[in-house]
Amino acid sequence: MAYDFDLFVIGGGSGGVRAARIAGGLGARVALAEEYRMGGTCVIRGCIPKKLLVYASHFAEEMEEAASLGWDLGEAKFDWAKLIANKDREITRLEGLYGKTLANAGVEVFERRAVLKDAHTLALAAGDNEARRVTAETILIATGGWPNLPDIPGVAHAITSNEALSLPELPGRILIAGAGYIAVEFAGIFNGLGAETTVVYRRDKVLRGFDEDLRRRLTGEMMNRGVDFIFGTNITSIEKTADGLVVAFDNEDEEDQVFDAVMFAIGRQPNTAGLGLEEVGVALNGKGAIVVDEYSRSNIANIYAVGDVTDRIALTPVAIKEGHAFALTVYGDTPVSPCHDNVPAAVFSQPPIGTVGLSEEDAREKYGAIEVYKSSFRPLKYTLGDNMGQALIKMIVDKATDKVVGAHMLGADAPEIIQGVAIAVRNGLTKAQFDQTVAIHPSSAEEFVLMRDPVPETGGD
Ligand code: FAD
Ligand code: NDP
Repeated sequence: MAYDFDLFVIGGGSGGVRAARIAGGLGARVALAEEYRMGGTCVIRGCIPKKLLVYASHFAEEMEEAASLGWDLGEAKFDWAKLIANKDREITRLEGLYGKTLANAGVEVFERRAVLKDAHTLALAAGDNEARRVTAETILIATGGWPNLPDIPGVAHAITSNEALSLPELPGRILIAGAGYIAVEFAGIFNGLGAETTVVYRRDKVLRGFDEDLRRRLTGEMMNRGVDFIFGTNITSIEKTADGLVVAFDNEDEEDQVFDAVMFAIGRQPNTAGLGLEEVGVALNGKGAIVVDEYSRSNIANIYAVGDVTDRIALTPVAIKEGHAFALTVYGDTPVSPCHDNVPAAVFSQPPIGTVGLSEEDAREKYGAIEVYKSSFRPLKYTLGDNMGQALIKMIVDKATDKVVGAHMLGADAPEIIQGVAIAVRNGLTKAQFDQTVAIHPSSAEEFVLMRDPVPETGGD
């Protein structure tokens, strides 16, 4: 049968755009549908706008450091509307670049929502327009994810990261629910920009799943910077009043409190609802994510999926690798499986975290005998001022092989530093090989090659 296209990609985000571009470059006739804005979560309402706001919020701390280094910057003023307008201009520029990239690869773009009708047919609808049907030999689903909201009274008054990046004004008092990536990053943004910031979380420390020392340290550092925490607690209702949003909690020790904004950052769900997947027989897991094999193929032979919609590792570079590997597998010479081992990650909290490999707890469980190296120090940059914050660098070594199986950092520039360290960890370098490397001095990163003695077995921070 002759199809309209060799490949139809649903979703113009990180994974979908990379797959479409590479497949187009390899000679496939490719189309892509995007229902909102080209670039997807990362470009439009994720990594990029978030990081621009993180940069802005760091200035509060940097201006204090500047004073200790002799600068008198005068009275500092911050203009939220200007930041958001500048950010929006840059996002629009990037959106345009994504469109150009696809056009250069010969990809036909439909600014429409796409829904599966059968394993080779898609309906493309925009608003009330009658859906147009197209067919494709292969379909790639790269529809990403969407923020979760709880089912509580007044939830309609709350925001998620989608809205937080474009609020008309900076809230005076904000409550953020959750303590994962998005909650700690946005708490740092709002706190740094001057909002009274409170985090409400059902457990007792941020970033469950990360190395325990990092979790403890970041929780303390956020408190030192002025973020309030309400632990062991969930929000039960939100009521809009003339004074603001009145929030009630399920913890009887917590009185109702009033905020100007309430933001939920309690995880994201794969974007699979209403896509026609169940009708076509595409298998989903219990979270609604598309189940795929190591080549991103679903249980239906011509339907593939990459990125957040598969709920493997929800990071942009992972979605890009998966999209690239898919295109090489289907349109190149040899199948390529995207590797999900030793994926480095950064949390753009304040201070930031960079991490690769296993936490101390996971390494102990996997290898039994491990050595832990830790260095905690006051960064040189702070020493002339009042900032008593400490950076933390930690390495986990498998005792049997001397391989570094985990490397973690909390402190300025941690994401930049861990990107380099990740090359060594991914390639199985040993602690001895780290130690043979000459330090760069003075730097924080040099601790990665200078830590000589493991901490005694009892550990502790
Ligand atoms: P997406 O980028 O979400 O793209 C999916 C696209 O599909 C969307 O544009 C959507 O409009 C479109 N779509 C959905 N359904 C349809 C349909 N039926 N028809 C047509 N189009 C459709 N990751 C990092 O690595 N670093 C970070 O710093 C980082 N920060 C983040 C900050 C925030 C606030 C958030 C929410 C996420 C962040 N992430 C970060 C995660 C990262 O954004 C995602 O992992 C990545 O964007 C996933 O790419 P994707 O291609 O799977 O999906
Ligand atoms: P995360 O999974 O990181 O964190 C979710 C948080 O919400 C956890 O603290 C979780 O608690 C809590 N939570 C979950 N369900 C509930 C509930 N029903 N009620 C109350 N609290 C709840 O999700 P995020 O939304 O922060 O981010 C989504 C993903 O996006 C991240 O996992 C990451 O992959 C990606 N991302 C990456 C970034 C980066 O690379 N820097 C930045 C932002 C996002 P508990 O721990 O108890 O389960």
